Amino acid sequence: MVVDEGESDPTTMAQICELLGDCRRCKLHDGRKNIVFGVGPDADVPLLVVGEGPGEHEDAQGEPFVGKAGEMLDKMLQHVLHLRRDQVYITNVVRCRTPKNRDPESDEVSSCIPFLDMQKKVLRPRFVLLLGAVAVHSVLGVTGGIRANRGKWFDWEGTPTIATYHPAYLLRKPEDKAKALEDLRMLEARLRDA
Ligand code: URA
Repeated sequence: MVVDEGESDPTTMAQICELLGDCRRCKLHDGRKNIVFGVGPDADVPLLVVGEGPGEHEDAQGEPFVGKAGEMLDKMLQHVLHLRRDQVYITNVVRCRTPKNRDPESDEVSSCIPFLDMQKKVLRPRFVLLLGAVAVHSVLGVTGGIRANRGKWFDWEGTPTIATYHPAYLLRKPEDKAKALEDLRMLEARLRDA
């Protein structure tokens, strides 16, 4: 999808943010309080983390993963990957909250995903971590659920990319934490070697 005709590719996060502007490219703008652009260093990050979309707290604060799922994500980063939240870049497939936190629809994903592509080009992450099925399907275009796609390496336009369970899912299903730990350990091993 072309974001804005005649624009050359932005080369900084500030330019991407400006291009996104007060976005009304899809219907999600109607119900949002804030656009949740993403947080983290502006370039050369070890890891880009991609979730699904902002929930209630993220919408209220304009920052990704600040609610309970965010606390779980922070633990996953810190305890397994030995990375603090402020060392990685965290964003989502869609930047506006969906009604009742439903999955984003395909037109909403296709309006928003070009901004993720732009952010990735500017960030040049060494690795990407996808959280949950929506991120896997939207970014990699693969079929099958998170069970089928977690814990294996993908190549997202030259960047080694791995998926695991979404932290909100792990809060509901703590019995799958061991599997998430396996996935994160695969990532940690490569982060350490890189
Ligand atoms: N869940 C997500 O996928 N993203 C957030 O930012 C918060 C919760």
